[in-house]
Amino acid sequence: MELTELTISQAHQGLLKKEFSALDLCKAYLGRIKNRDKEIFAYLTVSEKLALSQAQKVDEMIAKGGEIPLLAGIPVAIKDLLMVKGLKCTAGSKILENYIAPYDATVIKKLRAQGAVILGKTNMDEFAMGASGERSAFGPTKNPYDLTRVPGGSSSGSAAAVADNMACYALGTDTGGSIRQPSSFCGTVGIKPTYGAVSRYGLMAMCCSLDHVGAITKTVEDAKIVFDAIKGKDSMDSTSVESISNAKAQMLKINELKIGIPKEYFIEGIDPEVERLVREAVKKYEQMGAKVQEISLPHTEYAIATYYIIVPCEISANMARYDGIKYGYSTVKSKKHKSQDLLDVYLKSRAEGFGEEVRRRIIIGTYALSSGYYDAYYLKAQKVRTLIKRDFEKAFEKVDIILAPTTPTPAFKIGENVSDPLTMYLCDVFTAPLDLAGLPGISIPCGKINNLPVGLQVMGNYFEEDKVFQVAQIFEENK
Ligand code: GLN
Repeated sequence: MELTELTISQAHQGLLKKEFSALDLCKAYLGRIKNRDKEIFAYLTVSEKLALSQAQKVDEMIAKGGEIPLLAGIPVAIKDLLMVKGLKCTAGSKILENYIAPYDATVIKKLRAQGAVILGKTNMDEFAMGASGERSAFGPTKNPYDLTRVPGGSSSGSAAAVADNMACYALGTDTGGSIRQPSSFCGTVGIKPTYGAVSRYGLMAMCCSLDHVGAITKTVEDAKIVFDAIKGKDSMDSTSVESISNAKAQMLKINELKIGIPKEYFIEGIDPEVERLVREAVKKYEQMGAKVQEISLPHTEYAIATYYIIVPCEISANMARYDGIKYGYSTVKSKKHKSQDLLDVYLKSRAEGFGEEVRRRIIIGTYALSSGYYDAYYLKAQKVRTLIKRDFEKAFEKVDIILAPTTPTPAFKIGENVSDPLTMYLCDVFTAPLDLAGLPGISIPCGKINNLPVGLQVMGNYFEEDKVFQVAQIFEENK
């Protein structure tokens, strides 16, 4: 087995047993990236020097003896929306093409404290707006299973890097599905925690009330390791809370497990092969003794409309800071635009710095928030959001876990949906409701269609990540 194929826990064991050094591991990944990333384009920045120096420190720590944290020496890739001090942080946008992060995000501080080895920053849809990776200003990432297909998005590079053994694990973000959907397309495991369980300090905001930081890994066990390392209250993020998941963790008994299958997630438009694989997975749980029942989440059909009002509204506010003065790309220094007043700088810098999808969402959001339309759109959407949340709350009175497909189809072709925003938005149909409700969910591979991976989504109640992990692991171990 190649070093780059190891899971976090296998690599950790190898380091402890001195089968290889952290430097060996780091070099193996850097070599893999050199060989493979020309084709895949998972990375926007490879931080070779940083990685090598971090690996060396871990080897010194190991040589001294003492306790070695689980993530020490394990190479990780970071979505280019999270700040790593001293490295570029572009958000996949031309407007931040040369922006260097002045500080570490809290999750990065936590990883560094464990001795993580940071390989680089991963490609993504611009400011996390997209479901295919094609919206990166720097070019699309390819799906390692089929280079003519998308890896999903917006954490496109993070999922592709893990799937192609160019990182042992990766951090991503999920606002409408951006961890789970690319995980489904790339055959990786992707955990989106409960809203507030992981700090967002140092994450460039897309939609503050829906943004979540989470992990993309090779196994469920690894996903739990990373989640445990990055979770917790942070005084720098007032929406963060102490995760109570460990306090609640008990070993599940499969014959006491009540699983709900939402009928609204098996609708017209879903690929029949995806439905078959997900239903087969559900049957596995049933055969092992779990009690499966059909449930209803009646407001699911409004989730996409709700999401695509609330998200652009918050985007229009969050993108206001990129004005050509405070951050990044600016026409001030441009020779093309000489006689400029301030408004001219704002308008031209934003028009040239932002891509099409970002501009579209700013326009939709500004419109939906404007006086006279606010009540009809934003306020209404917030009310429907509450109904969607209540659907889940009611369901979790009856069941412990909800199982569903992560996405309606496997990975689609590059270029297939890019000129059709509505079709692209519909990719989030099974993932966005969970973000709107703020509940935890994981996508795990449950089979393949013509060599393209399909994801099973395991959704849990607030702060019950441990239950989600346990249920997901049962499937992983009994596939
Ligand atoms: N596809 C969704 C969107 O474009 C999800 C993005 C995300 O989760 N960051 O908004």
